[in-house]
Amino acid sequence: MNVLPEMPPNFRLVRFEKDGCVSWGVLSGDGLRVHPLEGPGHGSYPVGDVHFHPPVTPGKIIAVGLNYRAHGNEMGKPLPEEPLLFMKATSALLPPGGEIHLPRMSRRVDYEGEIALVVGKKASRISPEEAPFYLYGITCANDVTARDLQKKDVQYTRAKSFDTFCPLGPVILTGALPDARRLTTEVNGVVRQDARASDMIFDPLTLVSFISQIMTLEPGDVILTGTPAGVGPLSPGDRVVVTLEGVGSLANRVDADPHFSSDLPR
Ligand code: ZN
Repeated sequence: MNVLPEMPPNFRLVRFEKDGCVSWGVLSGDGLRVHPLEGPGHGSYPVGDVHFHPPVTPGKIIAVGLNYRAHGNEMGKPLPEEPLLFMKATSALLPPGGEIHLPRMSRRVDYEGEIALVVGKKASRISPEEAPFYLYGITCANDVTARDLQKKDVQYTRAKSFDTFCPLGPVILTGALPDARRLTTEVNGVVRQDARASDMIFDPLTLVSFISQIMTLEPGDVILTGTPAGVGPLSPGDRVVVTLEGVGSLANRVDADPHFSSDLPR
């Protein structure tokens, strides 16, 4: 169960580990230090001395497909008339800095940089106008996808849910909405995706309202709002970075599935 700390808006909240202890913290204005929210003393740590965890442990991860026009076009798919929803297994969560593993079962694994919404209050059948009251904040996500298996299976469960396929965090910007923030994805330092949150077909508040007509949203639940154009494959050794303007950057390395020896066919 998730207990998110009560926070004023526009704080950069993180969940971090230091000396085996996991705590909430707030990033300093320059992003160089973490100030713990609780615990003895009022010290702070350089970000290089802590390990970031995903900022929440969601009870469910709901994702939206084809929510940017240019991405629908690049996939050769008609645009949906209402939000296209699917889910990712929560066991796919990966911390910032964690390694994305390319499963042997797939020959094509893509990055999908996305804006994630974090639910703050239990929400059922709410209107778009009410939605801001139920949201806790926004963070960065990578909706890693086994593209070949997505095409083969028609539905998305396998393609979206391999272990390590949901990097999330590190920062939740509290009380914030995506607005027109810039979202970029870089692979090995080259920008591959570059869009504005305002380019979404179904805006974030419409998405929250729509999903809440179907399932009750609980605190800590995460909604991935779709990826812009420019998706592409990942290879062992790649470094992929998703950056959301005013929020932060989510960086992960990619490697082959370590559970299989490298001489087996992929
Ligand atoms: Zn996606």
